[in-house]
Amino acid sequence: MKSITLGINLSLAASALAYRINAQCQNAQVITRDVAIVGGGATGTYAALNLKDEGKSFVIVERKSYLGGHTATYHDPTTGTPINYGLQVYWDNPNSRYFFNRLNISVSQGTFPSSKASLYIDFTDGTQLTNYSVPTIKQDYINELHKYPYIENGLELPDPVPEDLLLPWQEYMDKFNLTDDAYSTYSRPAATGDLTKTLALYVFNNLNTVMIEEEVDGKTIVNADGDYGEPYRVALNEFGDNVLLNSTVTSGTRGNTTSDGVTLCVSTPQGNKQIVAKQLIFAAPPVMENLGVFGLDQKEEAIFSKFAGGMFYTGVVTNIGLPANNSYVNRGASTDYHVYSVPGNVMFNPTKVEGTYYYWYTSLEPMTQQQVESATRDTLKLLQKSVKGSSTEAEPNFVAYNSHAPLHPTTDADSIRAGIYRDYYNIQGYRNTWYTGSLLVTGSPQLWNITAQLLPKIIAAA
Ligand SMILES: Cc1cc2nc3c(=O)[nH]c(=O)nc-3n(C[C@H](O)[C@H](O)[C@H](O)COP(=O)(O)OP(=O)(O)OC[C@H]3O[C@@H](n4cnc5c(N)ncnc54)[C@H](O)[C@@H]3O)c2cc1C
Repeated sequence: MKSITLGINLSLAASALAYRINAQCQNAQVITRDVAIVGGGATGTYAALNLKDEGKSFVIVERKSYLGGHTATYHDPTTGTPINYGLQVYWDNPNSRYFFNRLNISVSQGTFPSSKASLYIDFTDGTQLTNYSVPTIKQDYINELHKYPYIENGLELPDPVPEDLLLPWQEYMDKFNLTDDAYSTYSRPAATGDLTKTLALYVFNNLNTVMIEEEVDGKTIVNADGDYGEPYRVALNEFGDNVLLNSTVTSGTRGNTTSDGVTLCVSTPQGNKQIVAKQLIFAAPPVMENLGVFGLDQKEEAIFSKFAGGMFYTGVVTNIGLPANNSYVNRGASTDYHVYSVPGNVMFNPTKVEGTYYYWYTSLEPMTQQQVESATRDTLKLLQKSVKGSSTEAEPNFVAYNSHAPLHPTTDADSIRAGIYRDYYNIQGYRNTWYTGSLLVTGSPQLWNITAQLLPKIIAAA
């Protein structure tokens, strides 16, 4: 009886959605394609290039005004110098080479931005940490990492999941005496939220062998001209009207069989458009705020309602009033392992343009641009008072900003224990939908590897 009621409820929900699409997209232009891609960041763009080369038609629906997701490039208005304040480097591997070669863009080795002098300061009170240096990644960390090869390239976890992986990282470090590695693991680029509470699973998944190859061995590439937005502009140019920018899906239905396909109503600056496609690639963060309009069934909702992304924001600021050419890095003066407090700025890094800095900011709750910039200004004012040689008169000038939230969705220990990642892998292709957005690893090239593994199945279904 219960399942009959459930079936009726689901089919009623499906009819309601179909009705909504029809109402919203009445008289809308219909775009018919083999594959609809939601999200034009790293994996959406990579998937589109491959689909095109395999003779499949596609359309990308991208919420922002550009392709490239977490790449963020500001051009200095006087010199035109590109300042990359989001993504910094790509792991040098065949898929990264493919990406740049395919777009006819020459590459060079990438370097993590560093400056001759990093000042480590507690951004909560301006205390400078003297005699502090950055511990390197140590062999004892690498030995621990090697215990869990199945989280190096995704999250294909054994059943049961080792309980050690579900410990908060600080407890894991204490249990295995890893205290010397604390800085390395806590200070990962783009790590979000309260780092002491991050599960060991996510620390190893993030600071994996690939990341160590990037940071320690310098196995990285970038496009040689230094403007990291460029590959995505070249792709946009090639894709033409197969990209809908500043656009979002307002309602969608996905059939249970391949022949049912996918129908989406999309709000674009040129009015609503209806997309009719055989398959859907979901290349945006797979969280409810993005997936809610797609008419998820219970099986899908049981997975995606359990994930939440981190809050991460980046920007460019001039006239900071601090002595030039230093990096100003947030470190807790009196916290365990000098972990910085959240919410707060992660750092201010100098750029190729003297006096122009980029900064990162992380919080536990969503913030607006105004809130992030106001909090960042407060931090700079505090630093002006505590760093010798600063000008306390200088008023910071914010010239660029980007929100990266929700970043790298994660879930809780109980959901992992209950097999949520197994369920996620099993749902690939269900209701003509494939997920490539960052859930299984954090770096773009590793996500391209995962996308590359899915593409033959998507192409076969389309
Ligand atoms: C500050 C920062 C620095 C980083 N540095 C590096 C680095 O140096 N090297 C590295 O390999 N990785 C780096 N990363 C991580 C890397 O950028 C991501 O893992 C990767 O971009 C994820 O790719 P993706 O396709 O899953 O998502 P994204 O690249 O985020 O693309 C998702 C796209 O979907 C769009 N979108 C979101 N919601 C919707 C919606 N509802 N409808 C339509 N579109 C939507 C977004 O605007 C975005 O363009 C960094 C991340 C950040 C935040």
